[in-house]
Amino acid sequence: MSSATNAQPIEPTATEAIVTETAPPADESLASELQAPSLSRAYQCQCGRPVFLRNSRCLACSTPLGYIIERLGVMPLAPAEFVGAEPDTFTLFGDPNGRAYRRCANFLTPAACNWMVPVPRDGDAASFTTDGLVPGFCLSCSVTRTIPDLSIERNGQLWLSLELAKRRLLSQLLALHLPVVTRLTDPVHGLAFDFLGSMPGAGHVMTGHQTGVITLNAEEAEDAVRERIRAEMREPYRTLLGHFRHEIGHYYWDLLVEPTHWLEGFRQLFGDDREDYATALRNHYDNGPPPDWKDRFVTSYASSHPWEDWAETWAHYLHMADAADTALSFGVDARNVELSGDLFEMADLWQPDDPGAPQFLDFLNGWVRLTNVLNEMSRSMGQPDYYPFVLARAEVGKLQFVHMVITEQRERSGLPAMVGKPAEPVVVDGAATAPEPAAEPTPPAAQPAPLPQP
Ligand SMILES: [Zn+2]
Ligand SMILES: [Zn+2]
Ligand SMILES: [Zn+2]
Repeated sequence: MSSATNAQPIEPTATEAIVTETAPPADESLASELQAPSLSRAYQCQCGRPVFLRNSRCLACSTPLGYIIERLGVMPLAPAEFVGAEPDTFTLFGDPNGRAYRRCANFLTPAACNWMVPVPRDGDAASFTTDGLVPGFCLSCSVTRTIPDLSIERNGQLWLSLELAKRRLLSQLLALHLPVVTRLTDPVHGLAFDFLGSMPGAGHVMTGHQTGVITLNAEEAEDAVRERIRAEMREPYRTLLGHFRHEIGHYYWDLLVEPTHWLEGFRQLFGDDREDYATALRNHYDNGPPPDWKDRFVTSYASSHPWEDWAETWAHYLHMADAADTALSFGVDARNVELSGDLFEMADLWQPDDPGAPQFLDFLNGWVRLTNVLNEMSRSMGQPDYYPFVLARAEVGKLQFVHMVITEQRERSGLPAMVGKPAEPVVVDGAATAPEPAAEPTPPAAQPAPLPQP
């Protein structure tokens, strides 16, 4: 596969570089290949302005905004006016008799959380509940178990970066109908995030997952630290969001693959998970990846053990899905792109006969075209590639496997496959559409760390 890459950028040949005179038919557009988003990333204020995932107030009209799980997006809010409404309670703008919400208790902390917490009333469905949430906190903050020590000033900023990445992760998991369960609901398999800093004299914090508990080294939220590690490890890509998506992949392997009918297919594609993990990792760090890893794995780390191959592939799928959803939500198209290069074929898939296979293949090839454009855009600014990967043909079957596991989960949850529709193309008009700072900076409270709850 030769999509654009940091290693070997594909230069268009003379014929490819010729701009087409006539637009290809609509059924070859990127939108038709990628299909409708599973998740809309384009949100609108009541005044019509586009607003973004981290916004808590419209910059144009000052309407309060908040992330509403039931709507899988950022919504305009109005102070609640129903009889008996408590102060600081909101309803959705234009729906004064609808469901009521409060701001998360982390709204004014350095976490600057803009997610809303349900305020159930008589007549609300039983599913509209605060069960499983830490009192006062939203779902995202309720799965944070340990935060960095806020008596150290810079930790406030690190915590914010971690929570922003986690909120983006969770908003996607919810849209894909993957279970997001707190430890209060399920003390054994529920999710908990520990953001730990390396203390002087203490051991190095290892990022990892164990039965629902995801530990992240909070130092990784420091750009200089993360970039140094990225360069030392010779990785083309290292982000907080990537860490979250990788670790949650281990969590869902425990839940959706290991105890299910998917295990056999997993072993076909990824290898035998019973291979000794500690030995495999030591071997990887001592001897490096196999020389042909690029033909078989999405990253060199994926070659260390089948579990890591799964987690890297899972993370990659989430990257692709979110980026494609975002592009389509904003009406981005690559209709005139002539950088198609080598596209994937049915024979590259694991299950070409699966009813969803043609659609998945279209998605992959739309992705190749989109990332060709985005990489050229990045290079035009002198930035590292937007998508510094080359998808090996052998990786395509694994991505389809992840897609099938998630699709089955979504269908089993009985919810519609698509949420929302792609928005009309947005005309970006200057400062009014710029992302708003997440919240007023608040002086970090002096708190001991680790905290047992957020
Ligand atoms: Zn507005
Ligand atoms: Zn929150
Ligand atoms: Zn891992």
